[in-house]
Amino acid sequence: METSTSPVTAAHFVPQDLPTHLQHYIGGSFVDSVGGETFEVLDPVSNQPYCTAAAGRQADVDAAVAAAKEAFDNGPWPHMLPRQRARVLNRIADAVEAQEDRLAEMETFDTGLPISQSRGQAQRAAENFRFFADLIVAQHDNAFKVPGSQLNYVNRKPIGVAGLITPWNTPFMLESWKLAPAIASGCTVVLKPAEFTPLSASLWAGIFEEAGLPAGVFNLVNGFGESAGDALVKHPDVPLISFTGESTTGQVIYANCAAHLKGMSMELGGKSPAIVFADADFDAAIDSTLFGVFSLNGERCTAGSRILVQREIYDRFCEVYAARAKTITVGDPHDPETQVGALVHPEHYEKVMGYVEIGKSEARLLAGGGRPETLPAGQENGSYVAPTVFADVAADARIFQEEIFGPVVAITPFDTDEEALELANNTRYGLAAYVWTSDLQRAHTFAQNVEAGMVWLNSHNVRDLRSPFGGVKASGLGQEGGYRSIDFYTDQQAVHITLGDVHTPKFGRDDAAATDY
Ligand code: NAD
Repeated sequence: METSTSPVTAAHFVPQDLPTHLQHYIGGSFVDSVGGETFEVLDPVSNQPYCTAAAGRQADVDAAVAAAKEAFDNGPWPHMLPRQRARVLNRIADAVEAQEDRLAEMETFDTGLPISQSRGQAQRAAENFRFFADLIVAQHDNAFKVPGSQLNYVNRKPIGVAGLITPWNTPFMLESWKLAPAIASGCTVVLKPAEFTPLSASLWAGIFEEAGLPAGVFNLVNGFGESAGDALVKHPDVPLISFTGESTTGQVIYANCAAHLKGMSMELGGKSPAIVFADADFDAAIDSTLFGVFSLNGERCTAGSRILVQREIYDRFCEVYAARAKTITVGDPHDPETQVGALVHPEHYEKVMGYVEIGKSEARLLAGGGRPETLPAGQENGSYVAPTVFADVAADARIFQEEIFGPVVAITPFDTDEEALELANNTRYGLAAYVWTSDLQRAHTFAQNVEAGMVWLNSHNVRDLRSPFGGVKASGLGQEGGYRSIDFYTDQQAVHITLGDVHTPKFGRDDAAATDY
């Protein structure tokens, strides 16, 4: 891989030895596209290209799938003992952790996420590998005995080549969510990372090689969704697709998987409500709802981007919330003080700014509403958006209904529990919900009725890796997390044996005794 050594400049931090060209990784080798196509990758604070990446097409996906299929059909990985695979997974976790600083710098450089929030992603990614290493060693399957007549047991088998398609928000960590259970299960994989942010995915090959993962188990094809992603989804030798991204993309992929009846796991978009009742711990709710939508630049699938506030505290909540939002530090993603960095790409910036303008015609603007007043010196072209707060947002407003995926929040008042529930459920999405109240009964009743795959009561976004992750309605299909991920990447074959004599109806015999059963 070609690299450049770029110094830290006054205007813009550039990681040392930054690659200038990113290749595919197929069958244990770095390669360019068969047809030589490339695309440019921008950094979000200058919006200038900093490197090129190989642009995968059908031929590249064919090569990657062939390598993965060869490793699955004829390689050692699917047949290794769980303990042997777990040793490799634990070495992967160690190697990921050893990249902590490098990864944080690369991720921040490529995505615009504040460095303080990029740190820790390596640890979380490493935890995914350790977790699934433990899980496969402890894995046990059902066996059922019908006394004296039958024994039945589950023979769990990895399914084959898994196609993993990932988005650009926290890319490395989200890739680890899929890579760890897929590889742990004994599958081989082809990863297609997001085209906006291919940089950190380039670390995986070295990490896997160092850990001793056999060649061909992991393959990576860079490129666009409509070409590389599409070819992977439609490939007949890829029986499984695990996808994280927008709901509309999920619908296209769902349709394309139908031709081959592929297994699918879909983690899609969200417009998650945070419901603040008058009896909530006010300060804790303010802190959490600010963090919930403005952390990760608002580019977070589980962002609490609709805040529903009970009328008694509504005015005070709006006032305090907006005042705090105005003091959020927006700036250079590499500055450890920065709380909101630059949005990932000019296309995404345009989309978010479009919603900010729509919001001004739909609701009352309390904070933000455009670019920040001051921008980091030398980064005037960066994709910066001031944390933006709209109040009195009606349920039919576009900024209430549509996923913005940026630092923009919609606040709406409610009077009763019933109204809060109706508002909370009034979107096509159903990923997460956050409930703030000191009434235990209300919290649990609300949690059980809200249409969301995940609910946090008086808290936010901390998930034990054993618990399910996923959404309902337009936010997803199937759930990952813990043994559910292993279930997705494996077939559970049922094996039955009869103990004693087999009683079979004797078709075609004219002997009268044949009907005596
Ligand atoms: P996206 O749907 O535009 O792209 C996601 C991936 O799909 C990319 O790798 C892209 O190249 C690929 N792709 C696009 N079209 C394709 C096609 N026709 N066939 C195959 N692959 C295709 O999403 P994005 O903008 O990268 O990510 C943001 C979205 O992801 C948001 O909606 C966010 O909520 C969602 N997200 C969901 C979760 C979750 O766990 N539910 C987590 C993170 C992000």
